[in-house]
Amino acid sequence: MLPFLRSDLAQFQAYAPHPGGEGDAAPAVSSFDRLDTNESPYQLPEELKQKLTWTYQHLIETNRYPDGGHHELKQAIAGYVNESAGLVADSGFTPAQISVGNGSDELIRSLLIATCLRGEGSILVAEPTFSMYGILAETLGVPVVRVGRSETDFALDRGAATRAMQQTQQPPIRTVFVVHPNSPTANTLQAAELDWLRALPEQVLVVIDEAYFEFSGTTIVAEVLQRPNWVVLRTFSKAFRLAAHRVGYAIAHPELTAALEKIRLPYNLPSMTQVAALLALNHRQQLLTAIPLIRRERDQLLEHLAQELGLQVWPSQANFIFVRPRLTVPDPGRSTALSQAIRDQLKARGTLVRQISGGLRITIGSPEENQRTLLHLREVLRSRL
Ligand SMILES: *Cc1c(COP(=O)(O)O)cnc(C)c1O
Repeated sequence: MLPFLRSDLAQFQAYAPHPGGEGDAAPAVSSFDRLDTNESPYQLPEELKQKLTWTYQHLIETNRYPDGGHHELKQAIAGYVNESAGLVADSGFTPAQISVGNGSDELIRSLLIATCLRGEGSILVAEPTFSMYGILAETLGVPVVRVGRSETDFALDRGAATRAMQQTQQPPIRTVFVVHPNSPTANTLQAAELDWLRALPEQVLVVIDEAYFEFSGTTIVAEVLQRPNWVVLRTFSKAFRLAAHRVGYAIAHPELTAALEKIRLPYNLPSMTQVAALLALNHRQQLLTAIPLIRRERDQLLEHLAQELGLQVWPSQANFIFVRPRLTVPDPGRSTALSQAIRDQLKARGTLVRQISGGLRITIGSPEENQRTLLHLREVLRSRL
C-alpha cells in the first residue's frame, strides 16, 4: 500500500456495479435481463430523447459551467414534492428546502459530512438495508451501529435501536437512516416505526430515503415541514428513468439545506443532467404511467412465486421483490449459499438478480423480462442446486 494513503483505506473495496453479475469489463449494453439494480425497464420515450438531443445541440454551451445554483430545477422539484404530498404552494415546500445532488448518493455523503465528521457522530442503520449508508460512513471514518429487523415483516428492531441510541457514546448516534420502502426487503415504515422515529431527540437527524416513493405511493414528506431534524431523500434514478444522468434531491429544513449547500462541490450537476431532470418533471404524467403497470407485474410475479414450495416471498411496495430459499430449519449460512447458487444459475440463463442478506432481490422489468424471470426461477428451483 502506498505509504501516504490513509491506513484504514486498505480494508475497503471500490464499489462494484454488478457483483456476481457482468463484471467491470462488460459493455454497458448486454443481452442480459438486468434486474439487479432496480432501474426502470424503460428509457425516456423517443420524443423526449430527441428533445434532449436538440437541447444539447442548440442550447447547451459546452464551454460554460452548468448552472451552479440549480434554481429552476429546485423550483420544479418543490412543485412536484408539494403535489406528491397534496400540499398547496403557499403552505408547502419552497426551493430553499430543496438540495440537489449527483445522485442521492452524493446527498447521503453530504449529510454524513454535515453531521458526523470530526468524530462528532455515529450513524444507526437497521439491516438488511441500502448498503451505501454504511459504506459511505466508513470511508469517512464515521462509526456505523447496526441493529436488526423482524424476520417476519422486516420492521426495525426498536428495542435494539433504543438501546443503541442510549448506549452509543464517543461519538453518540447523530444520524439514523431508514428507507421507505426499504431495500432489499420492499416494506414501508409502519406506524410503530414512525412513532419511534418521531420520539427521537432533536439532536438526532432522521434520514428517510424515499427512493421508491413513486412505486409505494406513500410519503411522509409533509412531516418535514414540522420536524427540523427530518430529511427526505428522493431520486430520479428509479421511477423517472434517469439513472444514467445521476440526480437526487433532499427535502429538509432551510438551515439543513443551507448546510448541504456549504458542503457540496460547486458544479455538481452537469448541464445535461439538469435539463433531463427538468424535462422528466415536465412530462411526469407521461413517465409515471408506467408505475401501475410495473406494480401489476410485481403482484403477478409475487403471486406465481408464492406457489413455489422452495421459496419464501414477502409483499412489496416497491419495484423489486425479495425472496429467500425456504428452509425447514433457519440457517443464514445455507440461505446465502443457496441464494448465491440460484443467482449464478439465473445468470447462466440470462437473468441478473442481486444476491443479498440470505436472499435475492429481483427488480421488476418489462413484462417479457418478468416472464423470463419466472421461467428461469422455476427451472432453477426444479434443477438440483
Ligand atoms: C437506488 C437507490 C438510491 C438512488 O441512488 P442515486 O444515487 O440517486 O442513483 C438511493 N437510495 C436507495 C435506497 C436506493 O435504492
